[in-house]
Amino acid sequence: MRGCNNFCTYCIVPYTRGREKSRNADDIINEINLIYKKGGLDITLLGQNVNSYDYKGLDFPALLNRIVKETDIPRIRFLTSHPKDLSDKLIDTIFSAKRICKSLHLPVQSGSDRILTKMNRGYKISRYKGVINRIRNVDKEFVITTDIIVGFPGETEEDYNMTLELVNDIRYDFAYMFRYSPRVGTPAAKFKDQIPEEIKLNRLNKLIDIQNSISYDKNREMIGKTYEVFFEGISKRNSKELSGRTDGNKIVVYNGEYSRTAKVVIKSIRGHTPFGLKI
Ligand code: SF4
Repeated sequence: MRGCNNFCTYCIVPYTRGREKSRNADDIINEINLIYKKGGLDITLLGQNVNSYDYKGLDFPALLNRIVKETDIPRIRFLTSHPKDLSDKLIDTIFSAKRICKSLHLPVQSGSDRILTKMNRGYKISRYKGVINRIRNVDKEFVITTDIIVGFPGETEEDYNMTLELVNDIRYDFAYMFRYSPRVGTPAAKFKDQIPEEIKLNRLNKLIDIQNSISYDKNREMIGKTYEVFFEGISKRNSKELSGRTDGNKIVVYNGEYSRTAKVVIKSIRGHTPFGLKI
């Protein structure tokens, strides 16, 4: 699907790409079958806000169910999910089929309800945490990643600390982190209470340090566990090593004979990358 109806106050997408338009479900199914026939092992359903997919009354969970029933593609991913549209029905659907990957990119943007309102995000942190708790109650290892903006206009130290608290609390596997940067033509660019660049940078750097350490610890938690890995290429650092992707969307490097899929036991972390052996 293309476009977005949400109008977050910092974002230019609804102005440049227009309103949401969902692709014909039959075309999507046909394309996936073709990809599988040509040897593809995974697909990613893409949209600014895939959760609000709606083609002639067929919603996103129904689309996923159709893909599971009408194709044999081994791994189904999707992004990006909007927290306000991540329904219980969708969560149930994710857990109803092994082939739907157990990872979710769920951009939170800020840990402060006040800033989320200024951003026009349409959810509160209590709801966001409720969604994550619901997922983790079923699967503690479900991989969750996010996007965070610091230094949004009017963000106080208190708001910022709420973001740090949230990050420490949720323990994301990975986060894309940005300092707020005004986009001409968006409402937030005209907000009077812009934050000085130096403060934005300090806030961003501190956040990156915290999240990097969490990401590292989360990867360390993989040591000793076995993952099904889909081969993606030769390791960039060592041509004798292979690299592939887990169901949770993590890249791992491993030793062993080439095969399209492999069971890999993680032995160590190199830099930030899990390293393992094919078994
Ligand atoms: S941030 Fe995402 S949800 Fe918000 S307006 Fe932009 S594309 Fe839409």
